[in-house]
Amino acid sequence: MPAPRVRTASQDDSLPVLGSGRVADSGLGMGPALTDPSARRIRYLRVSVTDRCNYRCAYCMPAEGWAKKPREALLTLEEIGRFVELMASLGVTRVRLTGGEPLLRRGLVELVRRVSETPGIDEVVMTTNGHLLSRHAGALFQAGLTGLNVSLDTLDAERFSRMSRGGDLEVVKRGLTAAREAGFVNIKLNTVVVAGENDHELAELCRFAFDEGHLPRFIELMPIGQLDYGRPEQVVPTASMLERLMRAFGLEASTNLSGRVRGPARYHRVVSGPYLGAEIGLISPMTDDGFCASCNRARLTSTGGFRPCLGNDDEVSVLHSLRNHASAEHIVALVRRAVALKLPAHRMQTFATAPSTGMTALGG
Ligand code: SAM
Ligand code: SF4
Repeated sequence: MPAPRVRTASQDDSLPVLGSGRVADSGLGMGPALTDPSARRIRYLRVSVTDRCNYRCAYCMPAEGWAKKPREALLTLEEIGRFVELMASLGVTRVRLTGGEPLLRRGLVELVRRVSETPGIDEVVMTTNGHLLSRHAGALFQAGLTGLNVSLDTLDAERFSRMSRGGDLEVVKRGLTAAREAGFVNIKLNTVVVAGENDHELAELCRFAFDEGHLPRFIELMPIGQLDYGRPEQVVPTASMLERLMRAFGLEASTNLSGRVRGPARYHRVVSGPYLGAEIGLISPMTDDGFCASCNRARLTSTGGFRPCLGNDDEVSVLHSLRNHASAEHIVALVRRAVALKLPAHRMQTFATAPSTGMTALGG
């Protein structure tokens, strides 16, 4: 694998680096801002609020499901809320609630409200399979949820049911309509592309998204959770996705549009035809050597593992510290220890170093 292209501190104005590589105080009372050994500032926390799910997507879960953790092994909403507050005091500004299926977590709306009211947190967003969205969209919007990513792998009802092992496309579509009616304007449709399964549907998925006012994004399949899935021959490189989409729409790279260049997604804009100006996102964890260069995120697993990277099993547990009401200083020290483990880049391209923890607990 080529050496990762990691941005150095001096290349990034947003990093308040002092003389010898020390970083400036976060300004929020908990010492230096949270910065990893590659000088990337951590500003984005993804939280798996549950390892439970009402779907069993073939690339995410074994057909029989995971052995569920006992409820007491999962962080409580109070513990998640406190952890978010501590992370905000270290400079985190954005929180994504995910899972498993976050909408299965009782009290989620209250958690959204608490996180959105946390000083320093500007954005609270969620990733969902959309199955329960029509029931909760209004309350989530009212509670302060600022953005939604909804997974949508296919527009074929039978394939949808097969890929998700029992999911219902029409229910998800109704959820999307409800979300729009509730006031969400920032809805992204995430498609995991699997060779020979849904890779012929990219243009159709884009047209659906454009017609509904959503943003389509295509994700390379990752080998996560020791499934017999995510094998090299199942991965469709985004270069090949882009080629197909170019033929369908005519695209140019868009680099500076409405805040949508944050994170590892690369966006392209339609340059002709009825969808002129519409955008498409491509996410290339498997083929983009620069994928990790601007990574600003960390994860909290449903069982209280704080992970600096999705791509391996390194974590520091904060479960007992949160449960035993340990001091803020103690928990922050654990967080810093974990962030010090963050590798310059994940190594999932080798297919041998993928995390063994399933995506549902990890918080994809
Ligand atoms: N249940 C919610 C959902 O499906 O949107 C949230 C949790 S899910 C683990 C988060 C995201 O991870 C989804 O967009 C899903 O498609 C993606 N994902 C799961 N397994 C993946 C894999 N092996 N490769 C790439 N993306 C994956
Ligand atoms: Fe559930 Fe989401 Fe995983 Fe599908 S991708 S099994 S909906 S957690």
